[in-house]
Amino acid sequence: MSDVISVARTLDRCGVLGPGIRAVLWVQGCPLRCGGCVAAETLPFEGGTAHGVRELAEWITGVGGIDGLTLSGGEPFSQAAALVRLVDLVREGRPGFSVMAYSGFRLEALRRGDDDQRALLERLDLLVDGPYVAARHASLLWRGSANQRIVALSGRHPELADATDSSAGIEITAEPDGSMSWAGVPPAAGFREHFEERLAARGFSLRHGDDDTAA
Ligand code: SF4
Repeated sequence: MSDVISVARTLDRCGVLGPGIRAVLWVQGCPLRCGGCVAAETLPFEGGTAHGVRELAEWITGVGGIDGLTLSGGEPFSQAAALVRLVDLVREGRPGFSVMAYSGFRLEALRRGDDDQRALLERLDLLVDGPYVAARHASLLWRGSANQRIVALSGRHPELADATDSSAGIEITAEPDGSMSWAGVPPAAGFREHFEERLAARGFSLRHGDDDTAA
């Protein structure tokens, strides 16, 4: 079982990728190639930065004032074994810690997956499943296209039954070096291209790579 995760980016606090305020871990590498994917830099498996699961668990448990962890990417279920280890380590100290994951695969396919993928599924409270389909783009809560579902896999988030199914928007962060980063699911198709063009016109750049990809 792997103790190393190939990481594209981390974010301490995010209010637009799951319930409450959450740490977000974007893994590196996805076997799918959805047209219009806004996280193209996270797709190659050879990219990213290797981090040990203990190091990442210490990071998550050390962030104050968060309600949970969201796993995005890239494809979290391509690194399921190490993510199982990570979730278990985090919950050793915080048994009620909420964990949500995105996947380009549907729940039914993940349930037919390997042992590690099913073990990760068993640990999740929420799953946003299915590939991004640009032709079905919609402004929905935490997801980008109408085929994607929010699946409750535990009883930890009963409040979602009454949640309004509309976009949570995006969060933009100005970095100390003058670049910008963002997180969230764009409510409009083509957001990223327009956003980058506007930033470039104003002399800003959107950072890519290990610390500034977006999902
Ligand atoms: S949208 Fe998600 S599943 Fe599709 S290619 Fe991008 S990271 Fe992979």
